[in-house]
Amino acid sequence: MLVHICCSVDSHFFLERLQKEYPQEKLTGFFYDPNIHPYSEYRLRYLDVQRSCKKLGIELIEGEYDLENWMEAVRGLENEPEKGKRCEVCFDKRFEVSAHKALELGEKSMTTTLLVSPLKSQEQLKHSGEAFEKEHGVEFVFVDYRANGGTQDQSRVTKEQQLYRQDYCGCLYGLSMQRNSQDRLMDEMFSPISNQILPASIEERIAMYEERMRLEDKGTDYRIIKQKFLNYRQFSCTLIKGKKEVIPAHAITYSTLPRKRAQGKIEYAIDDVHYMNREEIRFITLSTFNSLLKTSHTTLTELIFSPPSQADEQRLRKLLTEESFDLTPIIVVESIPEGKLTLKLDAKVYEDTKEQLRLLVSAP
Ligand code: SF4
Repeated sequence: MLVHICCSVDSHFFLERLQKEYPQEKLTGFFYDPNIHPYSEYRLRYLDVQRSCKKLGIELIEGEYDLENWMEAVRGLENEPEKGKRCEVCFDKRFEVSAHKALELGEKSMTTTLLVSPLKSQEQLKHSGEAFEKEHGVEFVFVDYRANGGTQDQSRVTKEQQLYRQDYCGCLYGLSMQRNSQDRLMDEMFSPISNQILPASIEERIAMYEERMRLEDKGTDYRIIKQKFLNYRQFSCTLIKGKKEVIPAHAITYSTLPRKRAQGKIEYAIDDVHYMNREEIRFITLSTFNSLLKTSHTTLTELIFSPPSQADEQRLRKLLTEESFDLTPIIVVESIPEGKLTLKLDAKVYEDTKEQLRLLVSAP
């Protein structure tokens, strides 16, 4: 039986139940989910499905990430709510490709782990599955593992196995509606030009989940713990001298400007820090930056494209302000500019939760 897999939270429990109910059946997992955006999130979910299938001894095949075809299929349905018409097309698309994969592999039957997701309409899935059964002759196996406490069991398995629990369905349309209704920043789609690995980003999670696989291979016990913290994302920073001369500038992490724009001039300096007469904005030169952080950036452009880690920049902020929760704009420039300056800085500080990997020293 070919089992279309959407994510480890749904697949681990679902595959365990299938193994019990169909002991004679050889199950093959098929991860086909071009609906997962961005691509880094797709890789993260695939990574956890790989781990889960390895634990269960199930062969796993990765489908193509044909994003453009998926986008084309749902064109015009971008504003549909979850469980609406776009989701029907999304299921159909994934069923269609899975059914063809089942045919190609000579499988007689197929099913999908989406059936166990409490957020999905089983009726909609059944309808799509049966339509393809008629068309392709591949039996659609409908199982309801949500009933009789199944959802609670799934939750227990997710916790026991420390599976990666994503908090959105997959596509950018569903995600943007969800984040709008939560009044939350859609930081999943944020990708800095610097390639810095940002706190609580998908890239940080991928590195952590890869590390946990290495720990498991070595037999080291660990826990993934959650931690609340204040996160930060910077969208843009522009420094203008006089009317229109743009000067290369880098705002270090946690620099914020409530009205996103301030105008003024630098009035005085204390040690190597230069103070502007608006919004407590401070300037340091690249040479001061390099000497405090022991880095060797030769130009501002180089610093903008490959800055040090956020942790190092936080260390620099603490050195300059002697404050742990400081949000003052600290701007790095090649040389201190004179005259009228305009700083445009779009950045956000927000409550967030991150996961951390901790080695288990002693059992509770
Ligand atoms: S919300 Fe989920 S099921 Fe619906 S279209 Fe997006 S990814 Fe597909």
